[in-house]
Amino acid sequence: MNLLIYGPPGSGKGTQAELLIKAFAIPHIATGDMLRAEVAARTPLGVIAGPIMADGGYVPDEVMIGMIRNRLQQPDSQKGFIMDGFPRTIPQAEALDALMAELGRKFSRVLYLRVPTHELVKRLAGRMTCPIDQKTYPPGTKTCPVDGATLVQRDDDHPEAVHKRIEVYHEKTLPLLTYYKRQGLVSQIDGQGTMEEIHQRISAALEESARVAKQ
Ligand code: ADP
Repeated sequence: MNLLIYGPPGSGKGTQAELLIKAFAIPHIATGDMLRAEVAARTPLGVIAGPIMADGGYVPDEVMIGMIRNRLQQPDSQKGFIMDGFPRTIPQAEALDALMAELGRKFSRVLYLRVPTHELVKRLAGRMTCPIDQKTYPPGTKTCPVDGATLVQRDDDHPEAVHKRIEVYHEKTLPLLTYYKRQGLVSQIDGQGTMEEIHQRISAALEESARVAKQ
């Protein structure tokens, strides 16, 4: 199963992707996490990406497309994957379609997590992140309940970057919804509620699309 999880920053893509990889035993391909690893390791790519990310902008398409091309060629993605954070622009989506065709793969479903903007701002500004597993917790949480690490604020979770991320999302990423709707791939999921409720909605949407596909 090749899944794409799509939605605005703070919509819970990462959290839901983690639940799906457990359910389906497929890798999570998250470009935000991949970029943060490059920044932490101070690689040449990380040195370019770090300031762009901290400001809430997008890393150039050519860089991202190259990164995904390498990632999809690794053997663990052969059995399927859940992609999160890519594509974010129409040129990225077009390049991904070409790459998938070249690899003889197709998306099974695009899961669109819908959350109103005021709720996104509330979730992102001040949320705390575990430096070990990248899981996020509400503002004010100090230590990670899983591994005890001291939580940190992501460089791009300060108010200016949050507003810019939402603005850039509307301008460059929202048009992908029409792009994938035209391909008949989108399941729209209400992204408000508990983690488990949203996971249940996703599971129901995947079952429904599998049922329709069999008919
Ligand atoms: P979120 O969806 O919560 O904003 P991510 O962890 O997916 O966070 O991404 C963090 C940042 O990494 C983005 O704001 C952007 O700067 C950069 N980034 C991640 N994926 C892409 C991409 N496909 N194209 C351009 N920039 C990207």
